[in-house]
Amino acid sequence: MAAKRWIPEKLFDDLGFRMTYEVGRVLYEVQTEHQHLVLFEHKFFGKMLMLDGATQVTTADEFIYHEMMTHVPIFAHGNAKEVLIVGGGDCGIAEEVLKHKTIKRLTQVEIDASVVEFSKEHFPEFTRKVLADKRFDLIIDDGMKYVARTDRRFDVIIVDSTDPQGPGKVLFSSKFYTACRRCMRKGGVMVTQNGVPIFQPGELKSGVAKFRRLFADGGCYVAAIPTYVGGHMAMGWATDNKKLRHTPVATLAARYRKAGRFPTRYWTPEVQVAAFALPRFIADAVAAGAPR
Ligand code: SAM
Repeated sequence: MAAKRWIPEKLFDDLGFRMTYEVGRVLYEVQTEHQHLVLFEHKFFGKMLMLDGATQVTTADEFIYHEMMTHVPIFAHGNAKEVLIVGGGDCGIAEEVLKHKTIKRLTQVEIDASVVEFSKEHFPEFTRKVLADKRFDLIIDDGMKYVARTDRRFDVIIVDSTDPQGPGKVLFSSKFYTACRRCMRKGGVMVTQNGVPIFQPGELKSGVAKFRRLFADGGCYVAAIPTYVGGHMAMGWATDNKKLRHTPVATLAARYRKAGRFPTRYWTPEVQVAAFALPRFIADAVAAGAPR
């Protein structure tokens, strides 16, 4: 009997450890123009997508990241009409955004068409509804180029990027955040995939420092995602409206009722408020990002 294949996540090789996953079956593997892509079945996590040796999405825990990257900024804003997703190839975030009937248009800018193509076949639970929704506008382009030239303006920008390596590197730059600010409407908010602070404190500190040079309020909120190894994951938060992060539970609950109380498995009004209460070591990393 052929030996089982195990696929390592190489994201933390420089820290001297790897998470390694036993492969049930490889569903798809290719070197695209931009990155190495492998999708395989895992007996506990279900379908697992890895790009350049970093876990992107799994069937078992996708709901946590997708709900927290979507409902937190949209319910905090309270009147979002235009939303931009940068990255988000698998359409897991788009599926959550389009649950908000008040959203008029969702623009998604993804650099790698093959991630969307293969998601049509392998993640129909995300793509089917999204691609059939008239409000959805998919643009294949580098997110940096798009935000630098678009004349669209957005209430909420969600940066669902890979890690700061390869094509995703520019999405952690001041140039990118400055261009995002240019296409944000007054009172708009941007959230970003900002790594796991216990293993990637530098990513959080430098992200917050860049946000705070551009916005009145720069920081993060957290959630625990099992396959983004490292306990808390930080989601970057940048807005000129300092009140948004303090939106009370009662207001969030009322907005959720108005939105039709669509089912969630992680997000609740209480979880949203709690997500901004940072453990001290993360609060210290955020404080370290404050301009001197
Ligand atoms: N949630 C995942 C994570 O936290 O690691 C990310 C999921 S999503 C698959 C990331 C997407 O960002 C990929 O489809 C990748 O192709 C896209 N991407 C990377 N760099 C990009 C860029 N410069 N512009 C637009 N999309 C980009």
